[in-house]
Amino acid sequence: MSEQHDIVIVGGGLTGLSAAYYAWTKAKENGQEVRIALVEQGERLGGKIDTLHRDDCVIERGPDSFLARKLPMIELAKDIGMESELVATNPKAKKTYILCHGKLHRMPQGLVLGIPTDTKAFLKSGLVSPKGKLQAMRDMVIKPKMTTEDESLGHFLNRRLGEEVMHNISEPLLAGIYAGDMNKLSLKATFPQFAEVEREYGSLIKGMQATRQKGQSVPGLPDVAKGTMFLTFRQGLGSLVDKLEEILKPHIAIHTGVSVMEIKRSSESGYELELSNDTFIQAKHLIVTTPAFAAAPLLKPYLNVEPLDHIRYVSVANVVSAFDKDKMTGAWDDGTGFVIARHEGRAITAMTWTSTKWTHTSPQDTVLIRCYVGRADDEERVDWPDEALKHTVLNELAELMKIHAEPRFMEVTRLKHSMPQYPVGHVEAIAAFREALKTELPGVMIAGAAYDGVGLPDCIKSGRTAGEEAVLQCLKEKA
Ligand SMILES: Cc1cc2nc3c(=O)[nH]c(=O)nc-3n(C[C@H](O)[C@H](O)[C@H](O)COP(=O)(O)OP(=O)(O)OC[C@H]3O[C@@H](n4cnc5c(N)ncnc54)[C@H](O)[C@@H]3O)c2cc1C
Repeated sequence: MSEQHDIVIVGGGLTGLSAAYYAWTKAKENGQEVRIALVEQGERLGGKIDTLHRDDCVIERGPDSFLARKLPMIELAKDIGMESELVATNPKAKKTYILCHGKLHRMPQGLVLGIPTDTKAFLKSGLVSPKGKLQAMRDMVIKPKMTTEDESLGHFLNRRLGEEVMHNISEPLLAGIYAGDMNKLSLKATFPQFAEVEREYGSLIKGMQATRQKGQSVPGLPDVAKGTMFLTFRQGLGSLVDKLEEILKPHIAIHTGVSVMEIKRSSESGYELELSNDTFIQAKHLIVTTPAFAAAPLLKPYLNVEPLDHIRYVSVANVVSAFDKDKMTGAWDDGTGFVIARHEGRAITAMTWTSTKWTHTSPQDTVLIRCYVGRADDEERVDWPDEALKHTVLNELAELMKIHAEPRFMEVTRLKHSMPQYPVGHVEAIAAFREALKTELPGVMIAGAAYDGVGLPDCIKSGRTAGEEAVLQCLKEKA
């Protein structure tokens, strides 16, 4: 006998957990029993979210925080009673740097997503030559592109701000989020607001200046989110996953350590899922929240999965070093870290001075530093043995920051094929794919970082939308 459910969620990362939570809540609100199951191939839930507690430190092996102005995470925190656990970045640590031409430059004031909105501060910065600055300022006078056709992020920024700003400022900052190649990432799928402000204000700089002023008052933000760009949870993002698991466990069937191997059509229930432990689950509605490369083989027997195959994934490594504070040299008490321009040819792509940026993450006597290694077309180092990675990171920290202390411990985490790269045309391709799904596999939905934005709040929104939609469909069928 196989298990019977109304909705099965494939994948137990934040998207899958949000789909499960909001599906369960929606059914409860409607006073209906909707049977929900979640299948996760890993032994634990959370997907990319993975918090380690070691020596009284809160160490994030994957994501470490989320954008405070994006509400779905704050709403989820409120919904599950974790609002009081939210913490903001250290208000005293405001300085961020960019390593460019061998030197750490303070990020000019007023950079919004890498776009200079404070022109005075930008013109003073040593990050860009006078010629590069002049080129960037042309953005205020050159004609806007009025069509909504997609282009690469690199092409757009080059067109508006010139090559130097793109390579020295925008690329290290923005591509840091995707670890991507600017010339391949879709503008519409990554930073649609750039194209929108170009059309509305005729200039990227002017448009971002206007948005910055408006953006200071996002309605619905709790006090903790005011005056900070990022938030996280006091006990790490893993505490959010633990809480969701604790809430959901009594109400939905959670299977960990098992993969969905195949989706079959079933005349009685709609679909039958074959699991890796040779059991089966039947359901009318499926929400597939896995990375695109794992969703594609499940859906390929029924429709053309090219749009999923086109989403490449980049691998990165996260190297955390914990030092005794009294043995440290070169410590910062006002800086949060730096990003490194691709042309510097360094192994480290970004460094966060975690214990300064997030004071709750370590005891007073400990300094925590996190470095990322690996980005699109520069991923070989991710596979280096731990010792080689640690050695390289420490060497670069010594060169760049004069840190010569021996760390008390280091943690290396490899996140293989973890950063989806939305190709040009992604938004339209995924919309068309969703339409095709409705016809070929009614009741099956896709959600998550592969499609609707990689940020944690985006994943919650994507999971919530799919979870609630699945319940509404179930209620219609039961009516
Ligand atoms: C290194 C790194 C740092 C990041 N930092 C940040 C940050 O600071 N802030 C931020 O907002 N975002 C950040 N992100 C992005 C964010 O973490 C992810 O986009 C998000 O966690 C993805 O959630 P998801 O549930 O969509 O996917 P995932 O977390 O990938 O979950 C998908 C799940 O599906 C499971 N699965 C796969 N195949 C199957 C199968 N056949 N059967 C069953 N289960 C299956 C997987 O095991 C996995 O658990 C970061 C991402 C990375 C990689």
